[in-house]
Amino acid sequence: MTTPLAPLRGMNDVLPDDSPWWQLLEDTARGVFEVYGFRQIRVPLLERTELFRRSIGEVTDIVEKEMYTFDDRSGDSVTLRPEATAGIVRAGISNGLLHNQQQRLWCMGPMFRYERPQKGRYRQFHQIDVEALGYPGPDIDAEMILMSARIWRELGLTMPSLEINSLGTPEARAAYRSVLVDYFEARRGELDEDSVRRLASNPMRILDSKHPDMQAVIAEAPLLTEHLDPASATHFAALRDMLDAAGIEYRVNPRLVRGLDYYSRTVFEWLTDRLGAQGAVCSGGRYDGLVSQLGGRATPAIGWAMGVERLVELLRLDRPELSAGAAEVYILMGDETRVGDGMQLAETLRDGLRGLRVQLHCGGGSLKAQFRRADRSGARWALVLGQSELERGEVTVKPLREVGEQFAVSRDALLDWLRNRRV
Ligand code: ATP
Ligand code: MG
Repeated sequence: MTTPLAPLRGMNDVLPDDSPWWQLLEDTARGVFEVYGFRQIRVPLLERTELFRRSIGEVTDIVEKEMYTFDDRSGDSVTLRPEATAGIVRAGISNGLLHNQQQRLWCMGPMFRYERPQKGRYRQFHQIDVEALGYPGPDIDAEMILMSARIWRELGLTMPSLEINSLGTPEARAAYRSVLVDYFEARRGELDEDSVRRLASNPMRILDSKHPDMQAVIAEAPLLTEHLDPASATHFAALRDMLDAAGIEYRVNPRLVRGLDYYSRTVFEWLTDRLGAQGAVCSGGRYDGLVSQLGGRATPAIGWAMGVERLVELLRLDRPELSAGAAEVYILMGDETRVGDGMQLAETLRDGLRGLRVQLHCGGGSLKAQFRRADRSGARWALVLGQSELERGEVTVKPLREVGEQFAVSRDALLDWLRNRRV
């Protein structure tokens, strides 16, 4: 039985207790983007369905079965974004950001894919996404990877492992395609239904199949790496040199193809074995053809996206000590005290000590009841403002987390007292 209160499958609430890890990830990423010269862009959650069909590719898992697509009230087919790149490229073209310009952009927010929900795989999930447009690489490819590695380091995360590959140019892939079709034709009997269909429409997608029965036949398939065009091979070698010089460890995985059609040349994925089946925490690649494919002037580009939910799970393992910042001081008022006096004290403290977490008791009640709330809030000190304190220009301080008697401090000395005791 469904009730309006049952959340939709695969859609999660992020509760206040979860927030410290989300915020650490978002704040860290934002800080790293800034020092690499990336600027924020925000694009709509809803776009024309056509945009995703044309960019991600008709014969991909996302477009075939994962999109939230519906007609809006004027009958236009619209889709909740399953990823950010298409929208950002669309925004770049429609706002004229790509004419003879280079853009380093980032964005973060929810994405929607109608997948089978399981640990690390949801229907609404979040990505932190970066795109560098107008750069042919491979220098920017290396920068993008270094930037992600810096985020892992600043987070204090156990390093995930990096896999890289080159998909070459579309022309090189066309030659490879016929080799691949011959191979799979010869082993047609071993293909699942999806793969048989893709053999005709998009054979490279077969390599991306997650079907367990398909893994053996995929493992023996001819490698794209052996069909790379010389320019792509040079590009890839230069990227590897730069990663080596920067001390970034990686493995070349010639079977890494990625699940979207728009990639060319460099693709990569950061993986962990600590989350069970959903091991990819950050994936990306170069998409030199996408901008022109969508109607803009040809613009080489590369981007990556990290899966926030999966990284938050890792952060919980590596940084269990994080917790929501409880109030530092909790202000209580005596029976005869006016709320305005307490509020004024709270504002004075917030003005005087930047970042001090001050919680003003709201909702009245006896001092005993207020102390109960103060204690439950996790605050370190209760500050009591009663009639006698007001008359003497003082505040009573009662430590809540450490042993010690309560004592009076003059209002003038309170800020200094807090400043000295805070850290
Ligand atoms: P996967 O192979 O796990 O399906 P993907 O190749 O579809 O991933 P991308 O489209 O490249 O993933 O998205 C980038 C990142 O977003 C992934 O590395 C992963 O961390 C995360 N991600 C993708 N789909 C989901 C999902 N349904 N739920 C949670 N995170 C996801
Ligand atoms: Mg997927």
